[in-house]
Amino acid sequence: MKVIFTGTGSGKASLKRNHSSFLISTRSYNLLVDAGDGISKALLSARIPYNSINGILLTHLHADHYSGLASLIVQMKMNKRKEQLDVFVHKDISGTVRNFIYQSYLFEEKLNFKLNFIELEENITLPVNEKFSLTFRQNSHLDEYLQFDHSKKLKFPCGSFLFTVNGKNIFYTGDIGGGSDLSLFDDQELHYAISEITHVEMKEIINFYRAAKPKILFLTHISEEIKVKNLVPGKFKGKILLAYDGLIVTL
Ligand SMILES: [Zn+2]
Repeated sequence: MKVIFTGTGSGKASLKRNHSSFLISTRSYNLLVDAGDGISKALLSARIPYNSINGILLTHLHADHYSGLASLIVQMKMNKRKEQLDVFVHKDISGTVRNFIYQSYLFEEKLNFKLNFIELEENITLPVNEKFSLTFRQNSHLDEYLQFDHSKKLKFPCGSFLFTVNGKNIFYTGDIGGGSDLSLFDDQELHYAISEITHVEMKEIINFYRAAKPKILFLTHISEEIKVKNLVPGKFKGKILLAYDGLIVTL
C-alpha cells in the first residue's frame, strides 16, 4: 500500500501546501481522503489520474475538506469516467453532500457514472473491499460550533478514522479538537498514524507516539504559522515525519 500526500496544509490557503488530503492506494482500490478547495489541481500536481480514484471519504464539512468535491466530479466527467464513484460520508451529512452535488447540476444521467453513497456510523467498520476497511469515530473538532446553531437542526459529525489494509492499521486523526482526541483508537494496535498538527500541541503528539508506538507517525494539516524547523525533536527523526505535498510512502 502507498499513501500519497496530495495536500498537507491547513484551512488557510497557501502557495506552499494544498489543503489537507491524501490518497490511500492499494492494489485494488484508491481512496481519496478529503476533497477541499483546489483538490483537482492538487491531484494534477501529484499526477494522480482523476479516474484512478475509486472512492472519496469526507471527514467533515469544513470547506478545506469537502468544498472541491463538485469540481472534482466535473473533472471525472470531463475525463469520461464510466466506473462508479464511492462517496463515504457520515449518515447525518450525506443528504447535504448529495444536495451539494445535485445543486451543482451534476445529475447522474448526465454524469454517465454512478455515485454510490456509503454512510458512516459511529464505530461501525465498513468494508471498502475484501482487504480494506475503515472505521469512523466521532471527535471533538466541531463541538465549539454547537452553540451557534440556533436552528438546532445541524449535525456536527467529524471523524477520526482507522483504516485497515491487509491487516495493517493506520490511525488518521482527521481534524481534531485537541490532544484528548488522539486516544480515540487506543483500544487498537496502530501500525501507522497520520495526525494533524494545527489543533494539537507537539508535546501531545509525542505523548501519543510514545503510548501508541506506531512505526511511523506522519504530521499533516500544517499551517504556515507553525515553525516547522525543529518542530520534531531530533530523537524522533525517522519516526515522526513532517509530510509535504507530493510525499509518497510505501507502508
Ligand atoms: Zn482542516
